[in-house]
Amino acid sequence: MPEVLFPLDSTRKFTDQELIGHNRWHPDIPPVVTVRPGQTFRVHCREWFDGNIHNDDSAQDVRDAPLSIVHALSGPFAVQGAEPGDLLLVDIVDVGPIPQEDSGPLAGQGWGYTGIFAKQNGGGFLTDVFPDAYKAIWDFRGQQATSRHVPGVTFTGITHPGMMGTAPSAKMLAKWNKREAALRATDPDRVPPLSLPPEPRDAVLGSLTGAEFDRVAAEAARTAPPRENGGNQDIKNLTKGSRVFYPVYVPGANLSVGDLHFSQGDGEITFCGAIEMGGFLDLHVDLIKGGMQTYGVSENCIFLPGNTPPQYCRWLAFSGISVTTDGEQRYLDSQLSFQRACLHAIDYLTKFGYRPEQAYLLLGAAPIEGRFSGVVDIPNSCATVYLPTEIFDFDVRPSAAGPSRIDAGTGAPKSTF
Ligand code: ZN
Repeated sequence: MPEVLFPLDSTRKFTDQELIGHNRWHPDIPPVVTVRPGQTFRVHCREWFDGNIHNDDSAQDVRDAPLSIVHALSGPFAVQGAEPGDLLLVDIVDVGPIPQEDSGPLAGQGWGYTGIFAKQNGGGFLTDVFPDAYKAIWDFRGQQATSRHVPGVTFTGITHPGMMGTAPSAKMLAKWNKREAALRATDPDRVPPLSLPPEPRDAVLGSLTGAEFDRVAAEAARTAPPRENGGNQDIKNLTKGSRVFYPVYVPGANLSVGDLHFSQGDGEITFCGAIEMGGFLDLHVDLIKGGMQTYGVSENCIFLPGNTPPQYCRWLAFSGISVTTDGEQRYLDSQLSFQRACLHAIDYLTKFGYRPEQAYLLLGAAPIEGRFSGVVDIPNSCATVYLPTEIFDFDVRPSAAGPSRIDAGTGAPKSTF
């Protein structure tokens, strides 16, 4: 086992650990440790809500989830010799849940969760159709996930970090804050908001204290969006065996990781759509000196995805076009087309006995594929959603005999405001 450079004690909060991570992006958050190019090391990761979501049958914790505390990130890890303009090569050597036999109180200890976030608290891809909070608990057995809240499915998780990235430079951070504020200013009262401003409340900034803490907390970017440095990309294919190349913007690169997912569908559509968990990552790092210019990777990472199973190969796919549910024609709106494809799949699954929210949770958590199939045929773009048929305990395909009905059980817990 590689040396653990960022240990976490599952029984203690993120802020009570031996090494304190961070939950904002800023160039002045000090690295917790320095690693050498060529080194492999283990990192423990806290689940993104730091233990606030429980293994129970109520969605109140999702409804009231404190968004100001996310994401609990491990790091930053400084890489010896890394300079702005380099590419940081990161191999995901291994990734998994908290290595513990017995199930425990923290997501990752034999279980994880998927949440539909309420429109009043974060929202999601289909928040106008699903404005309330829901939760599904998933139980892990080896690589398999099942849920008492979404019966009738068993699938193999493609475990990955939802978040990984390098620190921004001061100049890049200023650019983020400026452009995101300008967007917010176009509709400042929108619910959910168009973007999130820096939030000093609940900021965790590693070892910073005093006046320096206050300055950085007032400037530091929230971790919700993916940006040029990687960040919350939620790419389900960053599995074990992946090699990612990140642009380096500050001396040392300052790599951070977190938001581990046992599984996720393309798009992570319920906002907390993946199966969230705490766990570990084994990382190997190296440098390509001057690689940003050599390969034209100055903004946003590139990667070689891992080829870890499952490689599902039989699918039932749903298409959607850029016309609203009210029948309004939109021009090549691929976001809308993808929403319509997802709603199409949800409607279909209700014919088998699922409640709509169960189908929505399933699309967020299972390894579904999402594609922009056509983007040029005016006025309609076409998006598609692929469900692996093998994950269902019953035949989910259409037939002349009609759909078999499953027992949807007690359904997924719901909480309204
Ligand atoms: Zn996540």
